[in-house]
Amino acid sequence: MKVGIPKEIVADERRVAGTPKTTKKLVGMGFEVMIEAGAGRAADYPDEAYTAVGATIVPDAKTLYGECDVVVKVEAPTPEEVPLMRKGLVLISFIYPKRSAALMDLLAAQGVTTLAMDMVPRITRAQKLDALSSMANIAGYRAIVEAANEYGSFFPSQFTAAGKVDPAKVLVIGAGVAGLASIAAARGLGAVVRAFDTRAAVKDEVKSLGAEFLEVELEEEGEGKGGYAKVMSKEFIEAEMALFRAQAPELDVVVTTALVPGTKAPILWDKTMVELMKPGSVIVDLAASQGGNCELTKAGEVVVHNGVKIIGYTDLASRMATTASQLYATNCVHLLDDMGKAADFKVDLEDVVVRTSMVTHEGEVTYPPPAIPEPTPKAKPLAPPPKEKAAPVAKGPSPFRWVMPFIGLGLVAAWLVLLILEKTQGGGGAIAAVKDPAREFVQHLTVFILAVFIGWQVVWNVTPALHTPLMSVTNAISGIIIVGGIIEGGRSGELTAPVILGIVAALVATINIAGGFLVTQRMLKMFRKG
Ligand code: NAD
Repeated sequence: MKVGIPKEIVADERRVAGTPKTTKKLVGMGFEVMIEAGAGRAADYPDEAYTAVGATIVPDAKTLYGECDVVVKVEAPTPEEVPLMRKGLVLISFIYPKRSAALMDLLAAQGVTTLAMDMVPRITRAQKLDALSSMANIAGYRAIVEAANEYGSFFPSQFTAAGKVDPAKVLVIGAGVAGLASIAAARGLGAVVRAFDTRAAVKDEVKSLGAEFLEVELEEEGEGKGGYAKVMSKEFIEAEMALFRAQAPELDVVVTTALVPGTKAPILWDKTMVELMKPGSVIVDLAASQGGNCELTKAGEVVVHNGVKIIGYTDLASRMATTASQLYATNCVHLLDDMGKAADFKVDLEDVVVRTSMVTHEGEVTYPPPAIPEPTPKAKPLAPPPKEKAAPVAKGPSPFRWVMPFIGLGLVAAWLVLLILEKTQGGGGAIAAVKDPAREFVQHLTVFILAVFIGWQVVWNVTPALHTPLMSVTNAISGIIIVGGIIEGGRSGELTAPVILGIVAALVATINIAGGFLVTQRMLKMFRKG
């Protein structure tokens, strides 16, 4: 079974649908891999890197499309590429069927089975094939890189000998996959970030990235089918734009990513808002290819209006071709894996992922696919539900929570009995040193069991999120243990059991303290910039 990776011929497309890493995986899955000469060059993958992992380099696209059973590519094929494809070929590529009716007719007439990577359903099982999210993540990050490149100042606040520089103020409109990546990148650079989305569900995600979530007074459900955004009412869009208008004068960078599936991108940043911004400010419109969220955006261009730069690049993922190729190619490898690898490769129409992605098959255009049935959470389970398992210790209450107080009470009672016995026999009290070794052993054992009991209760009942501060406290306790260990270890010149135990206790507690410091150091390093 032969899989082919052609060179992309659309202008400015630097990505490639196979990298040496993914080629190696395909070879491992039993496929014979053919790469068109120079296919990976623009993404920094030379031909030799492919041959080194077992691929064959073919001189041109004609040979590749004529010989392979499956061809994986990035951009939808051009009308010149389709006639090169042999009948029965399985093509895996971005297609964008809504705007590619003529292309799909051509592919169907050519007898090609086409799987559109942009049609992979966003169901949990297909997350590893979600090329749209892979590319949106890169585009969101790159949007900030482009903005920083055009913006004439720092993103973080700077204190210099020549004075203080304020941090850049960034607004991200739409907090989907791309928007969240922009927020993370802008925060990473030290900017002050605000974000807005019609779906209130993203509020916590925005906040967790360290950005402020802006809201309008008007309440309206922003979530439509499948968790995606829905078209908002005119009143809501007006309220949203009023909010943005108030923000515009103080913003340095605006990244717009707002999309509603199946519709043109909503205009949310009009000319008057651009004119309210300071000269030198930058707008990056990630919705440019779908009409743009900014009224002045021109797809693929940088427009300057009143000193404000409006970036409408539509090839942001391709501008990071090395990683974009790797992620896209990995999504495609997962699809080929799910389709049975080389040995059992099959276009299974019963597979919801394959059927939903398929846009042409056996001479027919098969788009739109049948709707995926919505999950029915209230449906009766066929079999009786399995008995609820005991919750994992760290997450839920301990199954021993009822037993432990009794054990504790028992230990306390035993200790009290010991105390009374000691008093009645005229001893010096439980706390005082007792000469009788048996009694001394019982005392130590009691303290030991009580310590284990209290330790168990503390660790079990503290939420896992607080285990780190708890570790600091145990470090302090370890300090006490070291003191006790040294006293006990140095009590007699002989190597008795208590002396050995004292030395071991001091040693283990020292390891605990040193380990605690090392872990803390490592964690601090993770949060330290630079
Ligand atoms: P998208 O690219 O379609 O839209 C981008 C964002 O714009 C969305 O968050 C949307 O709510 C927002 N938006 C729309 N109209 C707006 C307006 N008027 N003002 C402000 N914001 C507006 O979205 P996406 O990144 O593809 O993701 C959308 C949803 O799909 C998210 O819930 C995401 O978690 C989910 N998703 C699921 C999967 C999966 O299950 N495999 C994968 C990716 C995304």
